[in-house]
Amino acid sequence: MTNYDILIVGAGPVGSVIAERCATQLGWKVLLIDKRNHVAGNCYDRKHESGVLIHQYGPHYFRTNHQELVDYLSQFTEWIQGNYFVTSYSRGEYFPFPINLLTLAQFFKKPTLTPEEGQALLEEVREKIDNPQNSEEFVLSRVGKEMYEAFYLGYTLKQWDMHPKDLATSVCGRIPVRFNEDCRYVDHQFQLTPKEGFTALFEKMTNHPLIEKRLETDYKSLDINTPITIYTGPIDEYFNQCYGKLPWRSLEFEFKEYDEEYRQKNVQVNYPNEHDYTRTVEIKHVTQQQHPHTVISYEYPRAEGDPYYPIPTEENHQLYEKYRLLAEKETLEKNVYFCGRLAEYKYFNTDEVIENALRTFEALKATHANK
Ligand code: FAD
Ligand code: UDP
Repeated sequence: MTNYDILIVGAGPVGSVIAERCATQLGWKVLLIDKRNHVAGNCYDRKHESGVLIHQYGPHYFRTNHQELVDYLSQFTEWIQGNYFVTSYSRGEYFPFPINLLTLAQFFKKPTLTPEEGQALLEEVREKIDNPQNSEEFVLSRVGKEMYEAFYLGYTLKQWDMHPKDLATSVCGRIPVRFNEDCRYVDHQFQLTPKEGFTALFEKMTNHPLIEKRLETDYKSLDINTPITIYTGPIDEYFNQCYGKLPWRSLEFEFKEYDEEYRQKNVQVNYPNEHDYTRTVEIKHVTQQQHPHTVISYEYPRAEGDPYYPIPTEENHQLYEKYRLLAEKETLEKNVYFCGRLAEYKYFNTDEVIENALRTFEALKATHANK
């Protein structure tokens, strides 16, 4: 295939969705590239040497509140219910996490707690900060110092190598606090996992005669002209870091196989205070694969490595804004569109980036279709 209508850089969720839409809705010829040797971006899963399905780049718990998004993705996968239960190991005990009535009862050594009693208890221990300005103030204002120190402070220091008071409220604000006994990790209406995994989903999405996939292909070494480009890589790299490097947080994953069917009681155990790793993940609890062995992933936060997390501080936000203005100009003058977690330097979940990709496609269609 030659004379592509569009080049898409990155075959993660955003690149795959826009490729699929352009091919199936507009009949465009698409060149979809990725520098890695697989599609699915950070949602990629694969069989470990043992045969156990693992999430290569950290656990991916798909969730959304939008039926339309589930309907769209259901063209490419069947689903199983998400089984997203997390415990936090602190003071020698495993606590349900996020904090809910069961956590509060265990932590404050009460036999049981009604929602009213839970609320009264937190009202007593929480710090009265009306308008929290950072993650520390946010957590203190919700659950008070003792639980902040037991569950959040150490974890956040390890994960970011930064103090919670230097991180935006939205970081620790991702974690709900509940006055019921719901132990699921997230609140969303739909909590689903692709039955055959994420890689199978994105493979199916991008297997189309009008989509040519070139893996192990870096945009920087590609010499090709297309009328439109979608760029989903790190925005600072696109502009050769002309304003300086945007900081990213990375992770190293260590996978260990065990000769037992399950090793943990639930998919994820957080370790705020012990060990160099932040969490251990046994994704089998989510994939529900039947296998006599299991694999645990140990996550070690790193300063260097693949860019996984934008670091939400005011300074970084301002640096990103400078790149965003360049990107706006690039869109107007060269039809290069920037979309996704790396391209928008935003701590997006998968459902959010897919919805953004669908919106970007609508903008493309409105501007370029039938021209
Ligand atoms: P990516 O998935 O990062 O894909 C971008 C692709 O672009 C990559 O494959 C990359 O190789 C490629 N690329 C970059 N530069 C170039 C270049 N120069 N040339 C060619 N290719 C290039 N979301 C959830 O909903 N639930 C979760 O539980 C969850 N857990 C997560 C856990 C971790 C540890 C991480 C890091 C993320 C998690 N996410 C989760 C977020 C989810 O991974 C992202 O929202 C999603 O993958 C973003 O999709 P994307 O297409 O924007 O980017
Ligand atoms: N966090 C924490 N303790 C925990 C879990 C999370 O302090 O046990 C904080 C930490 O700063 C983390 C943020 O909340 O980076 C968001 O957590 P989440 O589990 O959503 O992170 P992700 O899955 O995106 O790595």
